[in-house]
Amino acid sequence: MIKDKIVFISGASSGIGEATARRFAKEGAILLLCARNIVKLNELKKELEETYNGRVYTYELDVRDKQAIDALFDSIPDELKNIDILVNNAGLAQGLEKVQDGDVDEFDVVIDTNIKGLLYLTRKVVPTMVKNQRGHVINLGSLAGVAAYPGGAVYCATKAAVKFISDGLRMDIVETPIRVTNIQPGLVETNFSVVRFRGDVEKAAKVYEGIKPLTAEDIADIILYTASVPEHVQICEVTVTATHQATGGIVYKK
Ligand code: NAP
Repeated sequence: MIKDKIVFISGASSGIGEATARRFAKEGAILLLCARNIVKLNELKKELEETYNGRVYTYELDVRDKQAIDALFDSIPDELKNIDILVNNAGLAQGLEKVQDGDVDEFDVVIDTNIKGLLYLTRKVVPTMVKNQRGHVINLGSLAGVAAYPGGAVYCATKAAVKFISDGLRMDIVETPIRVTNIQPGLVETNFSVVRFRGDVEKAAKVYEGIKPLTAEDIADIILYTASVPEHVQICEVTVTATHQATGGIVYKK
């Protein structure tokens, strides 16, 4: 079912995007992977080609850069433009400061990546999906998009935006067979907290201390599942947490 589908994953150099690339490669998908770290992407490409004998294309891309997205799609062979599944995964949080103490340049980075980058890619890919009358857009929202938590105002707002972009897009293409899914995970242990705490590995590790968090592979399995259900089934939203997490702020730690 997934074999030979063309799957574009943003932010595939780490965490959930990387695990999703592995999961889809195992199923025989043709992968188009992008991120800013092309070295890591190319290491993953080599691994996936050797392990699964798959077709993997990598692109150095900052999703905030509209022109770079245009140039990338201009450079892709026509055959690969017929993307079946777009996984809008690239995203990040920066800091946990209160709004009044936050760095406005970091606000820009988070908003431009999580909202505008996702929209640019969606705008680029969905018209071909409509033309082909097939496709699936899978967005990485977050539990942070369901309710805010202290210090998370900007990040939470971007993930609430992902929810509403997903809901709005689903309405805009309701007459087509294209599906839209918003995945909303709670705590997943990836590089996310290292990025949030600007490289402070110890502080990042503390986030996951005393709880068994979700893994990137857990989320990749769910993404694959949403893409594998019969075509008349649309999984609109998946909210998934570690068993000892109830909300963004309520986490039981031993
Ligand atoms: P991660 O390990 O830090 O991976 C983030 C990915 O996004 C990296 O591949 C990074 O690649 C890419 N990225 C960041 N900015 C980018 C940009 N401007 N252009 C292109 N790619 C960019 O974190 P993760 O946990 O896997 O996060 C993946 C998604 O899941 C994010 O949208 C995040 O908000 C969401 N999420 C995470 C959690 C969690 O607890 N981890 C929970 C809910 C939702 P480069 O740095 O190479 O560009």
